[in-house]
Amino acid sequence: MDTRGLVDYHLHTELCGHARGGLEDYVGRALELGLAEVGFCDHFPLLHLKDPTLSMTVEDLPRYLREVEELRGRFSGMLEIRVGIEVDYLPETLQQVSEMLEGLTLDYVMGSVHFLDGWGFDDPRYVDGYRGRDIRALWERYFQLLGDAAESGKFDVMAHPDLIKKFGYRPSGEVSDIYRRCLDRLAEAGVVVEVNTAGLRKPVGEIYPAEEFLRMCLEREIPVTLGSDAHAPGEVGADFAAAAAMLRRVGYRELTVFRRRARSSIPLPS
Ligand code: ZN
Ligand code: FE
Ligand code: FE
Ligand code: ZN
Repeated sequence: MDTRGLVDYHLHTELCGHARGGLEDYVGRALELGLAEVGFCDHFPLLHLKDPTLSMTVEDLPRYLREVEELRGRFSGMLEIRVGIEVDYLPETLQQVSEMLEGLTLDYVMGSVHFLDGWGFDDPRYVDGYRGRDIRALWERYFQLLGDAAESGKFDVMAHPDLIKKFGYRPSGEVSDIYRRCLDRLAEAGVVVEVNTAGLRKPVGEIYPAEEFLRMCLEREIPVTLGSDAHAPGEVGADFAAAAAMLRRVGYRELTVFRRRARSSIPLPS
């Protein structure tokens, strides 16, 4: 099974301080794979903490947009290139972030929950934070914040929707109720969900989201898009055959694409 005709909507760049490779190298890899479309989606500046290894700075934003725009020109006719951004959802900075977003020309905005009440729970430096915690309560809190983020109306796509499983900490027993409460809110909010293959490269060793979660998305007719969360050119389209197979197995037949924050869909190649 190959990757032709798929889209990779989650590419990072060196500006975030923890990715490597030039933008043209990401695009070169996408061309090799025969992807239909790619979207850069680097980390929007974090406003609640200064850490040059986590996101671009506010000053970097115009440069980011300019560089992707230049690339779009250079590769026109060869590959569709979109510009998105991955924004951390934090209740305390939402207002400021949304004012900043209003001034930017973007194809789409992904909303991510990487912080639970100040704790960067997906950051390997802070993995100790799981110890001694009630994992079910953590999951509840995570999916509640994901629902809050969707309801804010500021995001087109919810990125790596079950990121809380990254290090393999899961509640014992069923989590369907947690998924259901969250997904009812996502469906009502009208957001798209990202199928993100980065989880396969992390301790959990699974695509985000879990197949059960994805099935519950389809039941609610929640559209999906696809991303590798590449932080290096070699990760573009990583494990897309597995992601496409999961999407087909669940019953998805389309992927969502964006242009200037307007949504359309392309067929999922069979
Ligand atoms: Zn990153
Ligand atoms: Fe993320
Ligand atoms: Fe990312
Ligand atoms: Zn991400």
